[in-house]
Amino acid sequence: MSFNTNKLIVFSAPSGSGKTTIVRHLLEQTDLPLAFSISATTRASRGAEKEGVDYYFLSPEAFRSKIEMGEFLEYEEVYPGLFYGTLASEVKRLWNENKAVLFDIDVMGGISIKNSFPTETLTVFVQPPSISALEERLRSRNTDTEETLQIRLSKAQQELNQAQAFDEIVINDDLSTALSETEKLVRSFLSK
Ligand code: 5GP
Repeated sequence: MSFNTNKLIVFSAPSGSGKTTIVRHLLEQTDLPLAFSISATTRASRGAEKEGVDYYFLSPEAFRSKIEMGEFLEYEEVYPGLFYGTLASEVKRLWNENKAVLFDIDVMGGISIKNSFPTETLTVFVQPPSISALEERLRSRNTDTEETLQIRLSKAQQELNQAQAFDEIVINDDLSTALSETEKLVRSFLSK
């Protein structure tokens, strides 16, 4: 099967909706020519996260200077005081490797990418079954303080309201169903 790699596939979802598991599953399908877009962020690295693997960790000054130099395809202040963005050089790097690019970015960032590359982009919104299911998942993950958790939940509610702007919505109620549904969508998009 030959795939068209001049493509961008954006996954957006409230944090805790299982988006990362879905993205990982796709990257494990070795017959699919996919690579993950490593974002830049001003947030501190968490747990085992590695520079240049999970994120490019930048100081607020370095991030600002890249904004001024026009180096971002999109960036957002995803949480108050915390910036995240996609560097144009990252997409270029992966396209040069003949890979379609997979993004795990917030809803506004996803919409910006779609607006910049309308024909090359598929946007997929991963929806948790409910806000209370999301809260349960975030609590069991146990990586956030209560304050951070409340901020994430309030952002989740805002993001759920924007799901309609996406090309596809995958409801992550049952994980294995969500995985196979997403894989099917991606295979079909890359075959076009
Ligand atoms: P976390 O801090 O949990 O790694 O990520 C927080 C949020 O930032 C997630 O919703 C993630 O999708 C979003 N995010 C990560 N990278 C980017 C990016 O490059 N641009 C935008 N707009 N959002 C991003």
